[in-house]
Amino acid sequence: MTEPIVDAAPALDFDLKSLPKVSLHDHLDGGLRPATIIELAEAVGHTLPSTDPAALGEWFRESANSGSLVRYLETFDHTVAVMQTKEGLFRVAKEFVEDLADDGVVYGEVRWAPEQHLQKGLTLDEVVETVQEGLEAGVDAVAETGREIQVGQLITAMRHADRGQEIAELAVRHRDKGAVGFDIAGAEDGFLPSRFRNAFTYLAENNFPATVHAGEAAGLDSIQSALVDGRALRLGHGVRIAEDIMVEFEDNEDGVDDDDDNVGLVTLGNLSSWVRDRGIPLEICPSSNLQTGAVAAFGEGIESHPLDMLYQLGFNVTINTDNRLMSGVTLTDEFELLVETFDYDLDDLLELTLNAAEASFLPLEEREALVEYINDAYANLG
Ligand SMILES: [Zn+2]
Repeated sequence: MTEPIVDAAPALDFDLKSLPKVSLHDHLDGGLRPATIIELAEAVGHTLPSTDPAALGEWFRESANSGSLVRYLETFDHTVAVMQTKEGLFRVAKEFVEDLADDGVVYGEVRWAPEQHLQKGLTLDEVVETVQEGLEAGVDAVAETGREIQVGQLITAMRHADRGQEIAELAVRHRDKGAVGFDIAGAEDGFLPSRFRNAFTYLAENNFPATVHAGEAAGLDSIQSALVDGRALRLGHGVRIAEDIMVEFEDNEDGVDDDDDNVGLVTLGNLSSWVRDRGIPLEICPSSNLQTGAVAAFGEGIESHPLDMLYQLGFNVTINTDNRLMSGVTLTDEFELLVETFDYDLDDLLELTLNAAEASFLPLEEREALVEYINDAYANLG
């Protein structure tokens, strides 16, 4: 559907990469370096579609570009296969943090599903501890280069499986050891958050925050269930909330119903009003949404992505990458895409970044420090 973002240099007088960023929606098993996959696959005897890093990276991007969430998710068979040992998990987690830092990320929440990493005999607690060690090693490696980054784990349960309660308890058990939140991921359509109602109740009783994938491969019912059954404090994607917004166009007097007609009356339904008026953060992943067909109902191409409408209407929009390997993007690329497509300026990028900082699952004092850091960095851009 979409081509990977090309290096068309936008007319910017600032360096997008160096802007401090906050990443809230980025999957650990979707952000591996191709060369690392090849080395780890060799060590565990896993067969890959290619053993050339460039060709393998291209294979991941092509598969992700198929327009099908199911095929998109198939690419994870290969990344998950090389993340079944302590060595694999540690290395992937460490490099993940280093790559975030290279992208300008100063705070990142890393989501992944521990239940998918037990094939070689590690326990749930062991895989969470190993990933935490890798993340901390990544933070240390970044510090050695004179930069700073902070990361937390979003412990994720797979929605087609049946381990929600167990994974919720795992997350709470690791709350002071790196776990900052809970999520459910995988096939959304047909697997409503209500399936995990008991697990979400347990989390709420333990005052442990949840973000829930909803409004990506399924629509408003899924979002409603994420908010009601999941007590979601954020929505993973949530982009299909736009389906609950009625926009009437006024003809611009050229007699043709087309894109340059003016937007007239905008009416929000009860659900979209709730999400906007309560400031529920939307973890929007622009390129991923195009690749999985999540926003296909709104038209083809990034220009049709409803994120701009949501942003202009005052929704709490944050920008994320989802899976940097599969989409072949960084957060810098996603920012560049928005600058090119919607003419966003520094004020917009600052607002989107502050939205993400404030939506993070950090304690208040740390969130305030993060907001101050970002504001200072933008102020110093001159
Ligand atoms: Zn996701």
